Amino acid sequence: MKTIFFNSNQVVTCRGSHSKKGSEMSDVGLVDNGSVVIEDGKIVWVGQTDDLESIFDMKNYNIIDCKGKIITPAYVDSHTHLVFGGNREDEYAMRLKGASYMEIMEMGGGINNTVRATRQESEDFLYEKALKRLDSFLRFGVTTVESKSGYGLDFDTEIKQLKVNKRIDENHIVDVVSTYMGAHSVPDEYKGKEDQYIDYMIDKVLPYVVSEELATFCDIFCEKNVFSIEQSRRLMLRAKEMGLGLKIHADEIYRLGGAELAAELEMKSADHLLKASDQGIKDMAKSGVVATLLPITAFSLKEEYARGRFIIDNGGAVAIATDYNPGSCHSHSIPLMIALSTIYMGLTIEEVLNALTINGAAALGLEKITGSIEKGKNGDILIHDCPNYKHISYNISVNTVEKVIKKGEIVYNRV
Ligand SMILES: [Zn+2]
Repeated sequence: MKTIFFNSNQVVTCRGSHSKKGSEMSDVGLVDNGSVVIEDGKIVWVGQTDDLESIFDMKNYNIIDCKGKIITPAYVDSHTHLVFGGNREDEYAMRLKGASYMEIMEMGGGINNTVRATRQESEDFLYEKALKRLDSFLRFGVTTVESKSGYGLDFDTEIKQLKVNKRIDENHIVDVVSTYMGAHSVPDEYKGKEDQYIDYMIDKVLPYVVSEELATFCDIFCEKNVFSIEQSRRLMLRAKEMGLGLKIHADEIYRLGGAELAAELEMKSADHLLKASDQGIKDMAKSGVVATLLPITAFSLKEEYARGRFIIDNGGAVAIATDYNPGSCHSHSIPLMIALSTIYMGLTIEEVLNALTINGAAALGLEKITGSIEKGKNGDILIHDCPNYKHISYNISVNTVEKVIKKGEIVYNRV
């Protein structure tokens, strides 16, 4: 299959093949009047349309006319909890009436509610539900998604979730990166014995996850009254020794020092960071940890937003992700996320585009494979029905994606 995505107004390449930090995030690698050539799933050329005919014999190619439109890399959503049982619409309705997340937890809601439902539902049922969710991610232009376990906590259910991750990756167009997050919450049977739960994950679960190749990353909810810095360090160090990449839910509700820990252990990403200290943010920038910000969660919980502007101004690399999950953020709306990132976190549209593409890929260790339009990378691109890239944020909370291309093939077409 050889295709030319021909004669667009602009190609936003986000080129660099590495995470973009600080002022680098202002550069989207723009090519005016550009075309993209994809052969056998890989990008072989990107440049100005005027140069195309002297290089390629057009009649040998399938031509997709992009006149009046723009091309960007496909989006990478590097933080989701998309495999889960049940739903929590009643809790959401209670929150709208003023109940706090903590009050809902005390009434048996929260993560425990989803844990019960996820334990009950079969692997096949969870798989079918997850496939449908991925269909919807795809329509927003997302062709790579990270998916965490953490709604089982016990051995069987955590493994069930990770197996679903593997199956959806194999059987859906969207690529799925699997993360083991048994340390999402303390299960009832280990309340007050958090250290023993960490031991159990290290001794029993991680070896199985690694030997069966069920996850690429290990993640932990490092938070007051959940897992401490020391417990997080212990689990993460062991996961690293066993070859897993590291992620952390850091400094979301309390300033515990998760950002500093992420820098110390040179984790791939630290996520949330609403309360991260100045020093932690600077340490992360120095260590090359991607700051993954999740503004729809802050919006949904009416929290203060993470300091995206401050992180970039201090040389950090920012990715943005949906945090799609059944509780605090039942949304995977990329357009809403773009609106919140620009208006409330102070990012420019250029920074948002890098955050959603190359930096999302970098947060998953995939920056050499996807996330930008460069020779040799996967042909994962989007065609937007707008005349220039600024329209992507100017159309507030509107999906501008018209076509989604995965490895060179059109896998979604709105028109
Ligand atoms: Zn999360």
